[in-house]
Amino acid sequence: MKLQIFETNDFLELCYLLIDESTLETAVVDPGMMKEHKRNEVCDFIESKGLKVKYILLTHAHLDHAAAAEDLAKKYGVEVYANMSDAELAQNLPDQAMRFRLPVNLKPLKFDKFLNDGDILMLGDERIEVIATPGHSMGGLMYYVPESGFACVGDTIFQGSIGRTDLPGGDFYTLINTIKEKVFALPDETVLFSGHGPSTTVLREKQMNPYVR
Ligand SMILES: [Zn+2]
Repeated sequence: MKLQIFETNDFLELCYLLIDESTLETAVVDPGMMKEHKRNEVCDFIESKGLKVKYILLTHAHLDHAAAAEDLAKKYGVEVYANMSDAELAQNLPDQAMRFRLPVNLKPLKFDKFLNDGDILMLGDERIEVIATPGHSMGGLMYYVPESGFACVGDTIFQGSIGRTDLPGGDFYTLINTIKEKVFALPDETVLFSGHGPSTTVLREKQMNPYVR
């Protein structure tokens, strides 16, 4: 599976396109674009490559990850997938924008499909495994692609750091437990693509991450 990365907004959030190269089926993970030119960047890429968007997948429903989810779902006639425990956060996108004093006009977001721990999504012949990762938000999910050896982990873990837990739905001990029990259960060589900043690997974080000892 091929990965295309876009920086989407002032939070430097990263939107990932997961592309099955043989069928061009594509999953859009965390489309946090808040401005039209940023949305266009992603959409122009999708259209210029002839990609067939199949899913909009959210690792969680903070606005910097979910702002363009509904726009893209409508545009490509697909559904927004996320965990039910983040449904309230999604409903509150306008409040989240106010809280950060962002001059963006967001509507409440409604998920079309609920994903749970252990669900499998197919992209071409490749499996995307859905793994529940609560802690940064209650409904946190990561998307693990075992054949390609990577996972999109949202804001659960970063290179040398972890997600903040002071936002609604966050809980520090739950997050640490998630990292130890779920993220570190993946093979050591798995590449972790976070919602912000550079990628890392499971092994690197096991050895270097100061928050998880
Ligand atoms: Zn977040």
